[in-house]
Amino acid sequence: MNEKEVMAIENRFFANVYQKFPATIVKGRGATVWNMNGREFIDCMGGYGVSIVGHCHPKIVEAVKRQCETLITCHCSLYNDKRAELLEKLVNIAPKGLDKVFLCNSGAESVECALKLAVKYTGKKEILAMTGSYHGKTLGALSATWGPKYRSAFQSLILPNFKFVPFGNVEKVEEAISKDTAAIIAEPIQGESGIYLAPDGFLPHLRELCDKNNALLIFDEVQTGFGRTGKMWASQHWNVTPDIMCIAKGMAGGIPMGATIAKSEVMNTFAIGEHSSTFGGNPLACAAACATIDVIREEKLPERARVLGEFFKNRLLEIQKKSRIVREVRGLGLMIGLESRFDVYNVLMKAIDRGLILLYSKKNIIRFLPPLVIEKSQLEKAADILEELLKEEERERLHN
Ligand code: PMP
Repeated sequence: MNEKEVMAIENRFFANVYQKFPATIVKGRGATVWNMNGREFIDCMGGYGVSIVGHCHPKIVEAVKRQCETLITCHCSLYNDKRAELLEKLVNIAPKGLDKVFLCNSGAESVECALKLAVKYTGKKEILAMTGSYHGKTLGALSATWGPKYRSAFQSLILPNFKFVPFGNVEKVEEAISKDTAAIIAEPIQGESGIYLAPDGFLPHLRELCDKNNALLIFDEVQTGFGRTGKMWASQHWNVTPDIMCIAKGMAGGIPMGATIAKSEVMNTFAIGEHSSTFGGNPLACAAACATIDVIREEKLPERARVLGEFFKNRLLEIQKKSRIVREVRGLGLMIGLESRFDVYNVLMKAIDRGLILLYSKKNIIRFLPPLVIEKSQLEKAADILEELLKEEERERLHN
């Protein structure tokens, strides 16, 4: 099969729900991926943030191979050594006090579990979510997701009892929280909507408001977790510990996996059978996740993300200074957004031609979620390519 045929088959048979990029990726190592013709790309998309430890990290490959030959599936109604190993490792790196885990297969599922837990534990019904939020597309997660483009066609399926409050506005949250509020759910840094950091003081205030109102605080760290922002968890930048944390994306080196981690007393509220997942906690994903956590720690990837992120962000800020179309550069660690005054579609397409895969948020924000193992030289090259493309864009858009 050649590249054209692959694209034609995907376009014909796959649900038409993804904005496709014209690249057919068949191989990856670290932050480099290759297409079917052997052409190399720098991967600053990182599978929407999945690729924390890079593509095909040898330690993950080895762990998965070994586990494949031993045991691939084992339902959680039976015990398993790899699962036990992962649970210990996860609780060890989780914010203090979060010590009970439910294992699932995706970010949205981790959010579903968190929402159910909050309602069951508090006996209350209302969830406060943030404007600009993204928590996934299953119906519970979608009900907590802000974007009308994701929700409007499914209004009849959206759950009641979800209220949205402006992200970053303490007064509005204070007005909205009530005796009926079971939980506040928030991303410490909003990813899908364009890399918006919680303003200082906002997350600590949410913690206080939840405590005052006997509501739970849920942090969705699906995109920010596992070192992405320069610390293991983004919540640590603000020294706030949630009652429930949702994680997924990079946790198993690219093998599908998610988890909800909560305080024991919260997680213990579930009775047997009230929540489950056939694939959740399977030994293959657990082995991959164990190896991933080892790599993140051994290679000090949160620190690497902090240092490289600072370097890259500064480079982008320099580009901004010289540009008349770059509005803002923002982010933490290797979770960075560059906002343009214009649609960035052309820049993204031209970047692919130049060997750079980027990601967008909304129409006008370029998002960088590269593997944390990316080389500094690759970031330099990415910035050089981007600088040229943005200059070209400026000439075309502003006609001079
Ligand atoms: N929460 C956040 C913060 C996310 O960024 C995402 C995915 N982009 C999700 C939840 C949903 O994860 P998944 O696509 O694995 O269901």
